[in-house]
Formats: sequence, C-alpha cells, structure tokens
Amino acid sequence: MPKTVFEPKDDLLFITLFLRKVIFMSQYSDDVLAKVIARNPGEPEFHQAVKEVLMCVAPVLDKRPELIKEKIVERLVEPERQVIFRVPWVDDKGEVQINRGFRVQFNSAIGPYKGGIRLHPSVYLGIIKFLGFEQIFKNALTTTPIGGGKGGSDFDPKGKSDREVMSFCQSFMTELFRHIGPDTDVPAGDIGTGAREIGYMFGQYKRLTNTFTGVLTGKGLQWGGSLARKEATGFGLVYYATRMLQDAGTDWNGKRVIVSGSGNVAIYANQKATSLGGKVVAMSDSNGYIVDENGIDLDAIKEIKEVRRGRIKEYVDVHPEASYVEGCKGIWTVPADVALPCATQNEIDEESAKALVANGAKFVAEGANMPSTPEAISTFLDAGIPFGPAKAANAGGVATSALEMSQNSMRLHWSFDEVDSKLHGIMNSIYDQCTAAAEAYGQKGNLMAGANIAGFVKVADSMLAHGVV
Ligand code: NDP
Repeated sequence: MPKTVFEPKDDLLFITLFLRKVIFMSQYSDDVLAKVIARNPGEPEFHQAVKEVLMCVAPVLDKRPELIKEKIVERLVEPERQVIFRVPWVDDKGEVQINRGFRVQFNSAIGPYKGGIRLHPSVYLGIIKFLGFEQIFKNALTTTPIGGGKGGSDFDPKGKSDREVMSFCQSFMTELFRHIGPDTDVPAGDIGTGAREIGYMFGQYKRLTNTFTGVLTGKGLQWGGSLARKEATGFGLVYYATRMLQDAGTDWNGKRVIVSGSGNVAIYANQKATSLGGKVVAMSDSNGYIVDENGIDLDAIKEIKEVRRGRIKEYVDVHPEASYVEGCKGIWTVPADVALPCATQNEIDEESAKALVANGAKFVAEGANMPSTPEAISTFLDAGIPFGPAKAANAGGVATSALEMSQNSMRLHWSFDEVDSKLHGIMNSIYDQCTAAAEAYGQKGNLMAGANIAGFVKVADSMLAHGVV
C-alpha cells in the first residue's frame, strides 16, 4: 500500500534536511556578507545595500541552487570595473584645487552601465558603490536594457561660481571620457549634478571625442534631451505610491504629505502629489525644514531652489505664515499620512520612523536612494505600513533616461505626454513586478522583498546565460 503519511523516522529526516538547508542558506548569506565586509572595509553604506539584497533574495537562492553553484551573488557584489581619478581645476582666485573622481561600472549583464554622477563633499568610494549596486536591480526593474553603474566626486558645487563649476566639470570629463560611451556607459545627474553640470560635461565630451552622441542623459532639450526627464523621478515616485494607495483602497485626496529635500526629485514629487489632490505640508534642505499648513507654494520653492540656488529658509520671507525650523531631522515629526523621503541616504532612522508612525503616517515611498535605515524599515513593516523601496519607487528617473537614450538612437523627439505616459506604464509595470515576485516567494505585500527578488532574478538569469565572465 502506498504511504500517505510520514513515519516518525521520515519526519525526523525531513526536518533535519530542511533545517540543514535553512541553516546552510543563512550561513551562505552570512559568509558572502562577511567576505564583502572584509574585502571592502570602511564602506558601511555599501555593506548595508548588499545586506538588504542578500536578505531578500534568500528564498530565490533556496529554490535555485545553480545560482549558488555558479557564484552569481559573489560575482554580483564585485564591480566589473572601478575607476578613481584626480580632478584638478582652478578656482576664481587662480588657486589650484584637487578633487577625487569615481566611476564604478558595476554590472553590464542586461545593458550598458547606467547611473548618475553625484557631486557632494560626502562622496567616497563606499557611497558610489552602494549607489551602483542598488542601480543594478533598479535598472533591471525598469524593463529597459540598462546595466548598473554610478559615479561622482567629493566636489561641492554649492557656493561655487558657474566658471568654477565649469572648470571642475571639464576636468572631470577629461578623464571620464575614455571610460564611457553611448553603448558602454551612460552617466546622468544625481545630487549636485543638474542641467548645468550635465551641459558642461557634455560639451567637454563632445570636444574631446569629436562626436555628438547620447553619452549622457538629462541633456538640454535643444541638444538631445528628453521632455519629462526633469520631472521623471518625482512623477514616477508618485505614480508608484498611487498604486500603493489604491491597493489600500484610497487615493491622494486630502492626504497630508511630507516631502524631504527640495531638489530635483522632491520638487516634482511635490508637483505630482499636489496635482492628484495631496497637500504637501513640509519640505527641507540640508539646513532645515519648512512647514506650511496651507500646502507648500511650489512656485516659491522653484524660484528659491531652481532659479536662485538659495536656501529653503527664504520661503518664510514670502510666506510669513509658514514656519522654518533649523536642522533636518525634525521634519519626520510633522503629522502626515504619506512620507516621501527625497533627500539623501539614511535620512530616516529608527527614531524618526517611530515618530512618523506615532503621528499617523500610513504610507512611505522612497524617492531618495536608501533614505531609510534598516531599523526604520523594520519599524514601518512591523507597523503594517506599505513601504515602497527606492530601487522600485524612484526608478522613473533612470527609466526615462533610457527613453532619452532610445530617442537619441532613433534621432527622434517624443512629446511630453508620450514620455510621461511611457513613464507611467513603466512605474505600473514595476509595481506589478514587485507584488508578483513578493507573492511568488511567499512574502505577499512586501514590496521591498518583491523589488529585490524581481530585479535580482532578471540579472542573475542574464549572468547565467553569459557564462563565467
Ligand atoms: P538634488 O541635488 O537636486 O537635491 C537634493 C536635495 O536634498 C537638496 O534639496 C539638498 O539640500 C537636500 N538634502 C541633502 N542632504 C540632506 C539632508 N541630510 N537632509 C535634508 N535635505 C538634504 O538631488 P536629487 O533631487 O537629484 O536627488 C535626491 C535623492 O534622489 C538622492 O538620493 C538621489 O540619489 C536620488 N535619486 C535621484 C534621481 C534623479 O533623477 N535626480 C533618480 C533616482 C534617485 P541642499 O540644497 O541643502 O543641498
């Protein structure tokens, strides 16, 4: 007679095998992480990004031993190439200044390296590596054929004249140009790199190579840029968050929203959330934050930040009914329904996350890269708050950069509505991929697990197909 139940002896064997597998899995991830930490000392942001991915993809590795055998994870955490270079330039006083430039070409399994250039004094190799690593999975989620990379420098554009910024950008590109190309590596903007910087870098690339190609994205509209690229990360974030709200049976109408930062991502997240009925009550910069109970006047913010490159505290000069508070962290104590962190990494720690939850936050979607610490993420997940992770929620920027690359290759120019509607479709697809992957691996509703798994599987399968390279 066929056996339909386990005998006690079989039970024991099954449990032992299962436990061995689980213990092996977590041991495997721990070993990989320990090696990453040992091989990349002093790079906590990079370790943090790797740890999150390892934790989330454990169920995939459990189901697919060939990924372990072929050392896909060990290969993924090692950048294909990293370049560090001197960037000398001359300031307005005639003094020579020296900065350090970076480009990390992390993974090209699904397309040419793609990722922004960050110009900020906090930049060092660990920051560029965390951003480049995140970019691999984010780019995979966009459904466009782009690999992961990132670059930057410890140069601070703040307080510099246009001439000084140009001098730096030209020197930066004088080394970078030999490592990039429209089919090799296509950089873009990030913190501190906007239209002005992209313009100076593109001009120098064109001069050095005698080619006019789509080697950078975020270009000016008259010389190869795409409509809606400027708005794309912020708009895309709100499209993604809209799906989170819909799944919870609600929408933006009347929602109080906090948007941290007041740069490119923050401004256009504010614009889209407001247009859909939300009320953005607080924004910040690296010095402090403003609260305006009437809803923030975005034209005033654009005038201060985009036109005059001023400080957010100047907002109260035009809106005396609003308040300004020195220091950025307090923004997370402002009561709100939706939090959209759009400034920088680790800006929401456990204490801030607890304050958000205590003050009624019901949704968090990340516009910045890795803005929530692991403890903050646990706080949101434990409280049952839908949490949209950066590598999915802010992928609209790079997705639209890929659309800019397509237009450059085809020598075509799409209308704003055309690009915006493609962006909207891509963000919907990213959301669907996240929910489907989370469900397929037993983590229904966990968008962070879903984003990491969906991005990882696509890249891992491509790497398998290419052999050991
Ligand atoms: P910007 O340089 O345009 O703006 C950054 C903003 O954040 C500025 O307002 C800056 O203030 C503020 N800021 C910096 N540090 C802090 C802090 N500790 N607390 C509060 N505010 C702070 O950069 P982006 O908007 O382009 O980028 C913002 C984030 O979004 C980054 O994490 C970036 O990697 C990510 N991102 C950007 C994309 C893009 O397309 N631009 C795409 C995907 C992700 P201040 O003016 O004082 O410096």
